[in-house]
Amino acid sequence: MWRGRDSDCLTAFDQEAAMAGNYYVNDTAQPNSDHEVHVEGCYWLSLARSTTALGYHVSCSSAVVAARRYYFRSNGCATCSAACHTS
Ligand SMILES: [Zn+2]
Repeated sequence: MWRGRDSDCLTAFDQEAAMAGNYYVNDTAQPNSDHEVHVEGCYWLSLARSTTALGYHVSCSSAVVAARRYYFRSNGCATCSAACHTS
């Protein structure tokens, strides 16, 4: 019997491509006054009370640049955008 369940395994690779997606900046600053940039689906983004949508970006680096139009002190989230996390 044919079972079309192999496609379920593809979701395991989503993390590899997680750098591309819809990004958001947290309107609430961290204790160090950084505004964290998150990609859609990040656990920490779900905890943010208020965010500003940055649109679709292929990497966190351009998303952080976009976030700096709103908040000069923007920084990548250590969890979802570690490549852009500098402090
Ligand atoms: Zn995040």
